[in-house]
Amino acid sequence: MFDKFNDECAIFGLSGHAEASNLAYLGLYAMQHRGQESAGIAAADGHRVIVTKDMGYVADIFTSERLAPLTGHAAIGHTRYSTAGESRLTNAQPILIDCAHGQIAIAHNGTLVNAQELKDHLVRLGSIFQTSSDTEVILHLFARSRAATVEDAIIESVSQVRGAFSLVMLTPNRLIAARDPHGFRPLALGKLGEAWVACSETCAMDLIGATYVRDVEPGEVVVISETGLKSYKPFLPERLAHCVFEHVYFARPDSYVFGRSVNEIRTNFGRTLAREAPVDADVVVPIPDSGVCAAVGFAEQSGIPMRMGLIRNHYVGRTFIQPQQSIRHFGVRVKLNPVRSILEGKRVILVDDSIVRGTTSRKIVRMVKAAGATEVHMRISCPPTISPCFYGVDTPRRSELIAATHTLEEIRKYLDATSLRYITLDGLLESVGQGRSSYCTSCYTGQYPIEFPRNEAAYLQLTLKPLEQERDPVTP
Ligand code: SF4
Repeated sequence: MFDKFNDECAIFGLSGHAEASNLAYLGLYAMQHRGQESAGIAAADGHRVIVTKDMGYVADIFTSERLAPLTGHAAIGHTRYSTAGESRLTNAQPILIDCAHGQIAIAHNGTLVNAQELKDHLVRLGSIFQTSSDTEVILHLFARSRAATVEDAIIESVSQVRGAFSLVMLTPNRLIAARDPHGFRPLALGKLGEAWVACSETCAMDLIGATYVRDVEPGEVVVISETGLKSYKPFLPERLAHCVFEHVYFARPDSYVFGRSVNEIRTNFGRTLAREAPVDADVVVPIPDSGVCAAVGFAEQSGIPMRMGLIRNHYVGRTFIQPQQSIRHFGVRVKLNPVRSILEGKRVILVDDSIVRGTTSRKIVRMVKAAGATEVHMRISCPPTISPCFYGVDTPRRSELIAATHTLEEIRKYLDATSLRYITLDGLLESVGQGRSSYCTSCYTGQYPIEFPRNEAAYLQLTLKPLEQERDPVTP
């Protein structure tokens, strides 16, 4: 419903606990925000791996009856938003295969940029693919490997893929966690008693009572078995490219990603934005939930009070159906409602994390004005989004990104805002603090750290589309 980049996926792995699959369920539940199309859990008991997966939300799929057969001391789990491959059950993860090296299940967060090229080659060699997901390529490479050990076969297969991958894999007696050498997507490592946990965000560890130890390092393959944890570094060092959008929007603010507090960095974005784009106004209002942390920082830095002038209905799911065709134009009100007593007669600073197409922002500005605001100043805590992502995030094509095709003043006019300012790229990286050069910022710069296939390049074509021709979805 909201005009945002879509989250990617969450992965979770745990080894060394009698309640492994129940804990995987809780871990996925905590990370549901990263993908809502499908979810699955694979469990291993030392002899075999079994998997259960389905379309839908974690809590709807995993009843106690469906969790009961998932016995064993190790489990991996996945929630999916499809960034490569269609949204259907065969593409749900973990994907489980049985091959010459034995059974292996895999769960992946990210997108492989050379998946099609590898798939074409493997198909010519006789491979038969079951899914349209890029992840399956890794399993085929694993199955074809002539390496003597499972560890070596895994290392050989992940060494052939390029792009963004944080992975958890499960064999009957091993949990494997791996991260691409650029470190695009997060993968944290923690402990729960004697058990090891690997997951996309530390909020999953908080729920199960595990303690964050460190990140799986970019380019590291971690193998956890009865004999303990072994670390392998099979890749040549590459330029680090942690996805800065994890800090801007994706990750939960109570998580640590890339070893840093999301809440702290997101609040820093607001402080920096207030220094870079000050404005005389009466009240700072976040667009919930994504704008809240930055609004706190903006209010703190500017001294202008923050109030919750927009209230979000948390019970609106992705499947909201308009009850009657004749009742139209609920628009954004289904999800957000303005608080007139806070907005009426006020000069309002509206803070949000990003603008993608601009359609929702325009509705919100109009709604705030209709509630009596005399001025609406939009402040955005990331730079203008001008280019799509090829590393595991679902983004519209470039021609649909409003900032790729319009000037700041044109966007302001379209939004009907009194003023509009974005944080600068320098301000964003300054707010991230140490390690600023280790982030990917391609969606703000159009400069990509890894080449992607030529057919993807069509995505970057600009088709200029004047905003005036767009139908206004608010006004009947
Ligand atoms: S292009 Fe943007 S969304 Fe994609 S990995 Fe880079 S920073 Fe993240």
